[in-house]
Formats: sequence, structure tokens, C-alpha cells
Amino acid sequence: MTTRITIVGAGGLGGPIALSLARPGIELTIVDHDTVELSNLHRQLQFTAADLERPKAPVLAAAVAARGGAARGVVARWTPDSADELSGDADLVIDASDSPDTKFAIADWAVANGRLYVVAAALRYGGNVMAGAPGVACYRCLFEEPVEAPSCADAGVLGPVVAAIGGVAAALALGLVQGDRAYAGALLAFDDLRALAEPRILRFAARPGCPACARAPISPFAAPPVLYAEGR
Ligand SMILES: [Zn+2]
Repeated sequence: MTTRITIVGAGGLGGPIALSLARPGIELTIVDHDTVELSNLHRQLQFTAADLERPKAPVLAAAVAARGGAARGVVARWTPDSADELSGDADLVIDASDSPDTKFAIADWAVANGRLYVVAAALRYGGNVMAGAPGVACYRCLFEEPVEAPSCADAGVLGPVVAAIGGVAAALALGLVQGDRAYAGALLAFDDLRALAEPRILRFAARPGCPACARAPISPFAAPPVLYAEGR
């Protein structure tokens, strides 16, 4: 059985996520509108100087194929308008963008269409990853609205940090498509990977009035609410 996964963003997070998912049985669609720039190379480990000015998505797709995986690279922006075309057959969508609007758009689309999703973010020395699934609290339940956050390009993030966060995102995605719901609806927060590799695990209840959950085919309000944090 083939599992179809869309990765939105072929940069610092998208690279390690895609390369980690280069394996038999998984078909990747990698979506990114950008081209490789010199300033990307230190944290986008999948690219070399030979890739400068090339579109990121097909270059990353080729790197996946070179490792025995199946991937197509699409040079486009993933938006609510292009979502059905780009991800209509996807079992799971991974946000690896650094756009708050894109993260919410992916989560909202996945909830409305009953799909699995993973939202990843890295900043400075840490990051967080949310695993989403039908029937549990969603990304918008927790964060409500996009806020102006410093982007990776502005605030700086290290290559090893995005590689680590990307690896976690890929692992959560693999778990979800294999039916493991241990982290479904949870946010794993890594505050500072230099100091501690163990995440805070935040589990939260579906938020009454959440407009995304209101459109979900499987209501998260039917599930018994959980509201606690594990770890520190
Ligand atoms: Zn919600």
C-alpha cells in the first residue's frame, strides 16, 4: 500500500523531513515556490553550491529519488486555493514552511478534509512539532490565529537544529500514517536542544468555538478532553 505525503516547504525543515521519508511505500509531493540562494546553504543541508538559483522543490525531489524514494517537486505556493490540486490524494500533509499563515492553512485544510497533518517550526536553538489527526484538538484550537513571528531568515536558526526538528516531524508523520495515535493532538516543544533533548509534551482539549473543528467530519468534541503537560 502506498502512502502519499505532501511536504510544504523544501528549505531547512523540508530537507531533512523529505530525506528521512525517502523509503519504499511512500510517495512524496514536495511543494515550494522558491529557488536556492547562497544564504540558504548553511542551514538547508540538502543543497550545495551546484544548486544555486535552481527551484528548491525539484532539486529536493531528485535528492529523495537518489536515495531510493519516490518524490515529485512542484514549484508552487501551497494555499487554500491550490490545496485540493496539490494534496487532494494526500494521506498526510507536513508543514515545513516558515509562514504562520501557511501553517494555519494546512492545519485548517487537513481538519476540514479529515487528513493527518504535522506542523513543524524551528527557531534559534529549539522548535516545536504538532501531530494532527481527525477527532482530536487541532492546531487552531491551540494557537487560535497567526501572529507575527520572526522568521528563520530574520531570527536565525542553526542547520543542526532544523535537522533535529525535521527528524522529529518525520518520525511523528511516520507514526501517524502507521496508525500510531500516541501523539495525535499533541505539541512537542523543544525549548533548547543544546540543553535538553527531551520535549515538553502539551496535550490540550478541543477549544469550543474553534472554526476549524466546526468543519471537521469527525468532531474532536466527542473525544474525552485531555488537558495537561507531560515532562518538565
Ligand atoms: Zn480546532
